[in-house]
Amino acid sequence: MIEFTDVVKSYEQGNTALNGVTMQIEDGEFCFLVGPSGSGKSTIIKLITGELKPTSGTVHVNGYSLERIRKREIPYLRRTVGVVFQDFRLIEKMTVYENVAFAMRVVGAREKEIRERVPYVLELVGLENKANRHPKEMSGGEQQRLAIARALVNNPSMIIADEPTGNLDPERSFEIMALLQEINNLGTTVLVVTHAQNLVELFHKRTIVIDEGVVVSDGLDEEE
Ligand code: ADP
Repeated sequence: MIEFTDVVKSYEQGNTALNGVTMQIEDGEFCFLVGPSGSGKSTIIKLITGELKPTSGTVHVNGYSLERIRKREIPYLRRTVGVVFQDFRLIEKMTVYENVAFAMRVVGAREKEIRERVPYVLELVGLENKANRHPKEMSGGEQQRLAIARALVNNPSMIIADEPTGNLDPERSFEIMALLQEINNLGTTVLVVTHAQNLVELFHKRTIVIDEGVVVSDGLDEEE
């Protein structure tokens, strides 16, 4: 669960990125966070992952209080939240399989678990036949799927996808969104962060709209 209460975040230069954000995302939800460039979306992601601390207010994520979390607890928090980064952050010299396996190795998984789990998540994202490729040998949509597989492999309760369709054509975008919905149907909370209003309109899901650091609407997109 994500719970922001009266969250203000000011950067050192005096920029106030968030100006009193209150919102709650329950376990199992599928939710969009939408807003124009500079509205505060990345700041919200960084507060959820513990990369930043709020200037005031409280941020609760999966049982952790981020305004007072200890440094050594942050790796444990991050196992509960898989982030799919906009620039993917794949390791070019590793194969598809190794990229996903590596994410398990860094949290100390056993080789037996890795051998069982990696093929399962690659199949889930439709990359079971690409396990031996390198990221460079794959399309943008396939790289996005790989980034999703890696975010999922340690079985987080929630995944955050940052502009998941940023570089994709409409058809591939639709496929990625369908995949995220399927992942949600399997029980993982999904937060899709985007400036692409048109994408949001295709899916009738809860949408939190942020502008200039405040929530300006929150609810189902009712327009048909
Ligand atoms: P978005 O992700 O919606 O584009 P951001 O969260 O990146 O928005 O930024 C929100 C506001 O905070 C913007 O005005 C931006 O210029 C400012 N900002 C973001 N990061 C920093 C930083 N490291 N230092 C100072 N200001 C920042």
